[in-house]
Amino acid sequence: MGEWMTVIGLEVHAEMETASKMFSRCPVVDSVEAAPNSAVDALSLGMPGTLPVINRQAMEYGIMVGLALNCEIPPINQFARKNYFYPDLPKGYQISQYDRPLASHGHIMIEVDGAPKRIRVRRAHMEEDTGKLTHSLGGSLVDYNRAGVPLLEIVSEPDLYSAAEAEAYARKLRSILRYLGVNSGDMSKGVLRFEANVSVKHKDDADLRERTEIKNLNSIRNMVKAIDYEVARQIRLYRRGETVKPATLGWDEAAQAIQVQRYKERADEYRYFPEPDLPVVEVSRAWVEQIKSKLPALPDELQRQFVDELGLSAYDAGVLTAEKAVAQYFLALVGAGIEAKVAANWLTTDVFRLLNAAEIERDAIGSIPLSAQRFAGLLALVQAGTINQSSARKQVLPEMWTSGKDARQIVAERGLAQVSDAAVIGDIVQKVLADNEALVTRYLAGNDKVINALFGRIMGALRGKGDPAVVRRVLTEKLAETTR
Ligand code: ADP
Ligand code: MG
Repeated sequence: MGEWMTVIGLEVHAEMETASKMFSRCPVVDSVEAAPNSAVDALSLGMPGTLPVINRQAMEYGIMVGLALNCEIPPINQFARKNYFYPDLPKGYQISQYDRPLASHGHIMIEVDGAPKRIRVRRAHMEEDTGKLTHSLGGSLVDYNRAGVPLLEIVSEPDLYSAAEAEAYARKLRSILRYLGVNSGDMSKGVLRFEANVSVKHKDDADLRERTEIKNLNSIRNMVKAIDYEVARQIRLYRRGETVKPATLGWDEAAQAIQVQRYKERADEYRYFPEPDLPVVEVSRAWVEQIKSKLPALPDELQRQFVDELGLSAYDAGVLTAEKAVAQYFLALVGAGIEAKVAANWLTTDVFRLLNAAEIERDAIGSIPLSAQRFAGLLALVQAGTINQSSARKQVLPEMWTSGKDARQIVAERGLAQVSDAAVIGDIVQKVLADNEALVTRYLAGNDKVINALFGRIMGALRGKGDPAVVRRVLTEKLAETTR
């Protein structure tokens, strides 16, 4: 595929998780837990005579996202009617924004294979979500709980040149939304939805080629699979001398394949016009400044802090800040007095391994039984020399993970307290040396590596509980005495 190049632009719909809907007091409810049509009012149902009122909190969340994505926030923005008819849209039009969006000209930094890249964000505009249709054999069902939920649409420029870049962008954007606390990022519930616009071109083509748009992507993993599939399909078409027709595609999870939903014969005609029932929104500079001053630290900034102030490597800092929940867990360890590098190391190796084995996503780390407080308890015992690293890693941690017990309790029950008394260790060393004369002779003959075998036997005799530093020191001393 050498001469072909992939071009992707992402359109992202993120619900703003406010208490009430975009244009009424109707509550916003969990789409999975709430009974269908339990959170609807006259406005969500598009009853004639109802009038919308702008949700200030939703606007504020939208501005937060715009600022976090390095966008300009124009002083005036305006809602517009996007006219189309569909059963999930009872009014016959969606209130959206058209030529005066909430935010524009931003960017997101991504990193693929260690190389940073700036992806331009064209715009972000506020709109209302539609209802949710469920098609079944008996007919189609519609749930209007979602109708009118504040929705921010974030549109990238076609700056993503591989599925890996699209994935990095999607993950970064989701992470930022979570850091801001405006969206849970739960794609399975549809609160965050990605649509990928995909085209391919020859490296030396001056212009972009025709694109298709993939919808129905319910996870980032599926988005990557769908992009790979679609890129291969388009290249195959061009190689056969055919063309790519503009189309809306869907990812069919069961078939692991792209399905064409419809070909776009001509551009959609939404007959946008300014929403007559709403005033233009003046976004004062003072309001923007006030929102800016309340923004939490975002992943890039936190990563820099972890490097500059805690001495972590850029790599570790990146891994620890990629998810807000992980960064919070890490900071809780540091806050409990655990040295930053030690905390980073244990977290990214041991805890991540346990999460992987249990198939728990890293962003769920805040709700595992091994709380940061409890894990800090274990690391404190290691730091104080009460137990050694290997007992902590191999015996205490796995039991903490499954039993939810405290480290101290497990150490006491299993008698794992570390032996660091030089006199006690000295006796054992003496005995092991006496029992292993052959090894000692080889050591004295200049085979230095033998010391590791002796060390292992001494640790075995101490049932793994010896303080490694003391054991090594006493062993070296005793061997030196033997030489003389
Ligand atoms: P509109 O919705 O007005 O048609 P565009 O077509 O310009 O807007 O862009 C919609 C999305 O498609 C954007 O995310 C953009 O980056 C992306 N896009 C536009 N052209 C291409 C292309 N040739 N290949 C891949 N993505 C594209
Ligand atoms: Mg839209």
